[in-house]
Order: sequence, then C-alpha cells, then structure tokens
Amino acid sequence: MSELRVRFAPSPTGYLHVGGARTALFNWLQARKEGGTFILRIEDTDVERSTKESVDAILEGMSWLGLEWDEGPFYQSASFPLYKEYVQKLLDAGKAYRCYCSAEELDAKRNLAMQEGRKPKYDGTCRDRSDLPEGQPCVVRFRAPRGGVTAFDDLIKGKITFPNEELDDLIIQRTDGTPTYNFCVVIDDATMRITTVIRGDDHVNNTPRQVQLYEALGFPVPQFAHVPMILGSDKARLSKRHGATSVIAYRDMGYLPEALTNYLVRLGWSSGDDEIFSRDEMIRKFDISGVGRSASVFNTEKLNWLNAHYIKSGDPQRLADLLLPHLSKRDVSTAGGPDMTLVVKTLQQRAQTLEEMADRALFFYVAPTSYDEAALAKYDKEKMLAVYDAAVAKFSAVSSIDEAGVEALLKEISLDLELKMGLVGQPVRIALSGSAQAPGLGEIIVALGLKETISRIQKARAFVAG
Ligand code: GLU
Repeated sequence: MSELRVRFAPSPTGYLHVGGARTALFNWLQARKEGGTFILRIEDTDVERSTKESVDAILEGMSWLGLEWDEGPFYQSASFPLYKEYVQKLLDAGKAYRCYCSAEELDAKRNLAMQEGRKPKYDGTCRDRSDLPEGQPCVVRFRAPRGGVTAFDDLIKGKITFPNEELDDLIIQRTDGTPTYNFCVVIDDATMRITTVIRGDDHVNNTPRQVQLYEALGFPVPQFAHVPMILGSDKARLSKRHGATSVIAYRDMGYLPEALTNYLVRLGWSSGDDEIFSRDEMIRKFDISGVGRSASVFNTEKLNWLNAHYIKSGDPQRLADLLLPHLSKRDVSTAGGPDMTLVVKTLQQRAQTLEEMADRALFFYVAPTSYDEAALAKYDKEKMLAVYDAAVAKFSAVSSIDEAGVEALLKEISLDLELKMGLVGQPVRIALSGSAQAPGLGEIIVALGLKETISRIQKARAFVAG
C-alpha cells in the first residue's frame, strides 16, 4: 500500500454526469496505479438540494463503470459536530472571529463598492472588534492573512499564485450554525488524510482559501490536480443542452462501460497515439501529471467508434446478458426464441451500440409481419415462388443444419433452378427477416432453427403468392 489517498467528492444534486465520471476515473486510476486508497465522499451539506435519488444515481453510475471505492461512502451531513469543533478551534486560537454585520449593511457596502468600480469584498469591520453584542446573530469568519500571496503547485496547471489582497475573510459558519462549503472540504480532506486532491478546475478559485485554512489549522497541505473542463461541440461547457450527459443515460443508450471509460480516459490525457486501453493498460500508463492543460471537446463519433470496437471484440455471452434489457424494453420476450449468444454473434460485427443491436435482433424473436416490398419487387414472382418451394423442401429433408449446410443447400437450389446465388439468397433473407439488410443467411438459419425457418419461408411464400 502506498501513502496515496485520493477522493471523489460529488454533491448529490443530480445524476453522475460524464465530467464527474471522468474526475472519478482519474482518481480511481491514480489510486490503482500507485496502490493507494480511493475514497468516496458525498458532499451533502446543502440539505435543500441534496437528494437520496441523486446519491443512488451516483453510486449506480460508479458501480456500472467499475470504479469501486476503498473507503466510504462518507456523508458530510454526518460530520456537522466535527466541523463545529474545528470552527471553535479557530475561534479559540484567534484565527476566526464572529461577525455581526447584518445582511443589509453588507449589501449596502457591496453596492457602494460596485458603484465606485471597486471589487466588492468584506471590509473587516468585525475583524478586530472587542465588543461582543450579546444575543445578536452572527456568522464566523476566517481571519485570512493580509498582504503577501497564497500559492500552490498544481500537478496539471503548474504554479498558481493569488494575491491575498483578493481573498477576503471567508465565512466558515453561517448565522444558523451550519458550516460552509470550503471549510467542510478542508476539514474532510485533512481528517481523511487525503494526499492528492484531483477535481474539476472550476474549483481552482476555491483552492487558495482552502490552502490558507489548512495552514491556519496546522494541517499538511495536500497536492492539487485541477482537471480542465469538458466542452460540447460548440466549445461551451458540456451540459444537457448538448444531449445526454448522464452516465446512466449512456448505459441505457447501449454503450459498454469499458467503451465509456476508455473514451473518458482519453479526454484530456494521452499516451502516444494509442486509442484503445484495456483496464490494466490504463492503470499502468495513466498518470495525473500527464493530463493536458486545455479543455477537451466531447466527441460522440469517437465514443461510437470505441463502443463498436468493444462490441466487436466482446464476449458474446456477456453481450447477450447486456443486450437483454434492451430487448425487454421493446416488449420482446426471448424465451423460446433463438439462443441470444448466437444472435449476438450474427450482429456484433455491425452494431455501434446495444440499442442498434437490439433493433437488429428483433426479427429473431418476432417473425416479420411485413416485408420490404421495394426489395421484393426486384425479383420475378414465379422464380421467387420456386425458390421458396425448393427451400421448404430442402430444409424439411434435413434434421439438423450448420452454416456450411445452409450454404450447400442454397447452392443446390441455385443449380436446380438455374438461378444465380443472389436470386436465391435474397428472397430467403427477406422471408426470414422482413428486410434485405440482415446478417449472413447461414447465421440466421442456424440461430432460428429449421422449424422456424421453414415456417417463415411458408409465410413469405403465401404473401408473395398473394
Ligand atoms: N462537491 C464538489 C463538486 O461536486 C467537489 C469538491 C471537491 O472535489 O473538492 O463540485
């Protein structure tokens, strides 16, 4: 076990979106690479906006992606006494103070500053006040250092420096006694002994305040790695506007978890020109310091390409299990129908998603009720009827069949009727699937079985005969 301790700290105010999933993935990879510890912390101090459904959705998304955590989930809402204790410590040490300024006073000062073109910040009225008005509501503010700078070395962005002048005295406890976000994060990261904070770069501006708090509390300051944002194709920050952003929505659209993790790891990180990374390769090659400094653009085509790759090379049995819910959602029962593993084998070279595969798999379980008439119109009616009659006769004469057997029988029909193979195969394909765009006939017939094959050809014959 290495000393590395990282955490993923989502706020449960929505589902797990792809940006959060990538942050979780980067943390998980770094932990697995170094033999460190990956902690899951649910930041639910915003009681109004945090929901149980959201927690469940986040856990479900992480489990689906295979990002198992070693400790947690810890809930911030369970730590209120701990935060209180540390607020008191800062007060006792004179590193925090009670502020009695009313919201109206602060608003008036803020407005004046804006009118005068100054950046609004707390003016320190209560910082050194000695009278403590009894029973008056107050917040607790951190006594931030004045003058000088606060700096940290970001593993991705390099050295970042903020003049302390720009950082006013942060409220760490509200009038109602609840702690504020930046304070809780520091107490948690410190008490959970987090060594490296990997998170979205929307938190860069919080970091100097957090660094000041670590120092005031005498905690070691962790390393920071701020990951650039993910953008939509229009270069705006990725949001619902750009389509699905929830990890579970990707599962439901028929993406494989390994395709999504492979896609996400390459979003902002690279290793030479490699595009395909197995889990083990990712763990071996990934390093958080190799993440690039600029934002990445989400590219669905590339995700589709990776998904098709993992479907092509996937284990048919596993893909069949994953395909099942996509068929069920189409009200299709697979019971009594062809073995799904065989069906997957006929389709896996051509499908980009499991949804697409489910569409194409339908005809295996539901006999066609209509036929592609434009395709049928290309063939001479009498010849088609002869093909169907010959096929019924040939398939009825055998008791079992494999792909080579199908090939041989079709060849015989083509010779007997003096028709080119295409004029035999296509009408049979349309009879079995309803469409001319279907997998190889041998595969279809083996999966359907002789009985179903014959019955479908008879039905198509009746249709063509009128
Ligand atoms: N809860 C914060 C968020 O969801 C993350 C805080 C952090 O990683 O420090 O954006």
